[in-house]
Amino acid sequence: RMRSMKGRGLTEKYTIDWDTVLGEGAYGMVYPARVAATGEKVALKKISRRYTNSSGFKTETDALLRIYDNGGHPNISGLRDMYEDHSYFYLILDLVSGGEMFEHLIHFGAYSEADAARLIQEVASALAFLHGVGVVHADLKPENLLLSTKNRLDGTIKMIDFGCAQIKDDELDHSKSSTEQATTSTTSSAASTGTTAYWPKERFGNDGEATPAMDMWSVGVILYIMLTGVHPFDLRGLSTDEEIEERIKADPSPPLDHHLVGHLSESAIDLIKKLMEKDPNKRLTAYEMLQHPWVRGETALKEKIQ
Ligand code: ADP
Ligand code: MG
Repeated sequence: RMRSMKGRGLTEKYTIDWDTVLGEGAYGMVYPARVAATGEKVALKKISRRYTNSSGFKTETDALLRIYDNGGHPNISGLRDMYEDHSYFYLILDLVSGGEMFEHLIHFGAYSEADAARLIQEVASALAFLHGVGVVHADLKPENLLLSTKNRLDGTIKMIDFGCAQIKDDELDHSKSSTEQATTSTTSSAASTGTTAYWPKERFGNDGEATPAMDMWSVGVILYIMLTGVHPFDLRGLSTDEEIEERIKADPSPPLDHHLVGHLSESAIDLIKKLMEKDPNKRLTAYEMLQHPWVRGETALKEKIQ
């Protein structure tokens, strides 16, 4: 098991390109780096102690360590090493070089059903693993799904950003109903929040606990955006978190009879409905999602219909 080390070893073991920022988030700056001994490319996430309390950071590393201890997952950018000094934490992560799904959506627009099905299957697979080892991501959105290559047709998904993750003290028991899970599992921290545009209604005004079912709702919103290019609740013109919260708390139904989804297969719409199910107890789990015929590639339309 890896241990946190003092910052000094960091620059001996890694050559860091401080002039190139790979990404900038709420809590951290991410830089490209290389393992000095081998030249292998990695990513360095540097988190200022000023911007996060130590418990927020601890959850991120705890989640990454739990992933590591369980063998990692091909669709999650794993933790390789970590360091700290008096002002920063440094996480060494697998480098993912294809950019954010968010950028791919902006540049190329919506995905075909066949491409979306392949990518969302990888997200479901990562979540089945995470939820199985007791980690809720709690901040799923297209900015936190990276692609392994810039070519959107052959890239694979690498999930990142466990800065809002919650660890369940007991591993989730999949034989229990989700109601029991929600009441028997305890969270170790609710230090950070995620992006409200991807939250289900039940997440607003609760005690900050995130559940596996909340991750699944977020996947439904992401899938809707992947297939239509727009958010299901038309958040354009809403500028503050409060306005977004009001819109979602008003309990809109995802517009699935709308012209925006008219080109989609019935099976794709069925899946979005089951993910954006308002009752968290009835919502698809990651395991159930992996069984859905659209996710299995059996019913996804093969051609992009314009
Ligand atoms: P925050 O918690 O601040 O949102 P993230 O972990 O999401 O931090 O990182 C911010 C951005 O940095 C990401 O959206 C992505 O563009 C980039 N990034 C993060 N991790 C990696 C990585 N392993 N490889 C390449 N880019 C990354
Ligand atoms: Mg992020």
